[in-house]
Amino acid sequence: MSDWEDEPPAPVETYNSRSFHKSNNYNNSNFGRGRGRGAPSNSNWRARGQDNRENRQNSRPQHDGNKQVITIPSNKVGRVIGKGGSKIRDLEYETDAKIKIGDSGGDTTEITLFGTDEAIAKASDMITDLTKEYVQPAPKNESHYNSNANTSGNFSTTNDYGDSIIDWNKLNAHYEEQQQERWSQLPPIVKDFYKEDPVVQNMSPAEVTRWRFNNNQIQIKRTFDDKPGLRPIPNPVLTFEQAFQHYPEILDEIYKQDFKKPSPIQSQAWPVLLRGEDMIGIAQTGTGKTLAFLLPALIHIDGQPTPREQREGPTVLIMAPTRELALQIDKEVSKYQYRGIKSVCLYGGGDRKEQIKVVSKGVDIVIATPGRLNDLVMARHLNIINFSYIVLDEADRMLDMGFEPQIRKSLFDVRPDRQTVMTSATWPSGVRRLAESYMKDPIQINVGSLDLAAVHTVTQKILFVEEDDKDKALFEFIQNMDPTDKVIIFCGKKATARHIHTELCLKGIESQSLHGDRDQSDREAALDDMVTGAVNILVATDVASRGIDIKDLTHVVNLDFPRHIEEYVHRVGRTGRAGKTGIALSFISRNDWAHADELIKILEEANQEVPDELLSMANRFSAMKIRREQEGGGGGGRGRGGRGGRGRDRW
Ligand code: AMP
Repeated sequence: MSDWEDEPPAPVETYNSRSFHKSNNYNNSNFGRGRGRGAPSNSNWRARGQDNRENRQNSRPQHDGNKQVITIPSNKVGRVIGKGGSKIRDLEYETDAKIKIGDSGGDTTEITLFGTDEAIAKASDMITDLTKEYVQPAPKNESHYNSNANTSGNFSTTNDYGDSIIDWNKLNAHYEEQQQERWSQLPPIVKDFYKEDPVVQNMSPAEVTRWRFNNNQIQIKRTFDDKPGLRPIPNPVLTFEQAFQHYPEILDEIYKQDFKKPSPIQSQAWPVLLRGEDMIGIAQTGTGKTLAFLLPALIHIDGQPTPREQREGPTVLIMAPTRELALQIDKEVSKYQYRGIKSVCLYGGGDRKEQIKVVSKGVDIVIATPGRLNDLVMARHLNIINFSYIVLDEADRMLDMGFEPQIRKSLFDVRPDRQTVMTSATWPSGVRRLAESYMKDPIQINVGSLDLAAVHTVTQKILFVEEDDKDKALFEFIQNMDPTDKVIIFCGKKATARHIHTELCLKGIESQSLHGDRDQSDREAALDDMVTGAVNILVATDVASRGIDIKDLTHVVNLDFPRHIEEYVHRVGRTGRAGKTGIALSFISRNDWAHADELIKILEEANQEVPDELLSMANRFSAMKIRREQEGGGGGGRGRGGRGGRGRDRW
């Protein structure tokens, strides 16, 4: 299995899934379930910016018993074959036809279809559809074209040189009209499910401010202009009952989890989301953000006027940057049973056929990575027009990984009156742009993520090592462990975790491992072994840094220092739990100098010893930054940027 957890984004073509020259069958109930889509169009494709006559090519089929040959433009063969042959396999699976790509005869290529008449017709239909030229409307203010087009439905015009070109303005207007019409035919949605508890309602502004300050210093505001007429920001709920007393089945599900109270983001997000507002949560993983958007999503699904079985397509979409995160969300979703709501997790590398099968059976929640989502939307396995609650989870990370085109393509058609939620650890301009494009008057909640109380019961030690000496230092540590000690060893990469686990096995030391390449049951077994004491060493990546509760864990070893200081706090917080003390040992190499300053702050705050070497590391790093700035080169060092590249072997 590759260390890359999700398929890297495919090269992007600038088209969308509509065709302006064919009557709109987008609302056709066949759409999105992969069934037949009506008779094939004769005018199959039209190259952008060229004369229509030149581009209308003949795809008329030639029949030969239960075999049929169709021709398509050679430059569209890739669409039929798909990445690594995935599309052609998919077509064969769906249609039951056998599909053979023939030799290219220059501009056109023959495709032979074998099978029953029905299978052949279906395959021909789908290939015709796939090879159509799709046209992306130009930006609205693009006015450099000489727009003297007639109004007869012809979208070509002539430019200053007399060439026939596409009249984008007209095409845009036409497209927009069609889209508006499609949207206007959709069933209505309901978004407001909130009845504010009197106790919450009666909180004084001072009480609310104090609560926010004491709860990770939450800040909350409208992200963009606070226009007149918008409702005031709601007060936080302090208990689960204040949020969900009208949904006892949801409350029961929460009680099963044994949580004591809502996390800060949940307290503040639930009133916002239950009220149907768009929301941006600036929060790290581990803050309880998944449940913050999930429980309102369940209520939203169940509360729509159109019965679930009559809806065309799923209701909730949760997009996540990586397979790990998607699966983690899926796992969280599966913990909460509510009125038979079903979900599916779509991610690159997973069994595509199986995913298509589940989608076509009808689900309410789709959890997806952008690449796979886009793939299934473009292949029309998934009807997205009806999503009315959308979550972009870890939006900054999705952008870092280059998924913006996929996100934009996938969301282009979704009904505009939907509710949109976005979470992000940071607030860079790309995320802001996304919010501007896809959200309506969002309310933004910033949650300070450092819950330093978690690390006050832990003795935090630092060991300075060269990268190459880490293994040796680690094995020395292990050899000196007491029989009753229990340790998690955190590694920065899956490959490192695998390596350490293997080395331990070779040395005859029993251990378990937990990282993104292990399947769910293995991960659960690994944790179980730690909890029961079958092993006392767990080698892990950051998949293990949150939510894991091994009560008698005595040590955390950071073999690799985490990329974010928040992660350090989470890792360290795995020990020293339930009133016990714990020890965290962090190996620091010269590569970690960018973190020295933040680490010093944490150590000081927790009354820990700060080694001189760490102070001088921090000084060296800040001197380097100043030098770089003076040279005009910016910060440098090992900051947060470039996550896409380094992310290849994460988790
Ligand atoms: P998340 O930030 O969504 O990744 O959540 C991290 C972990 O916190 C998950 O294992 C959740 O089950 C858990 N969690 C969510 N809400 C709460 C809560 N109110 N109290 C305690 N744990 C929670």
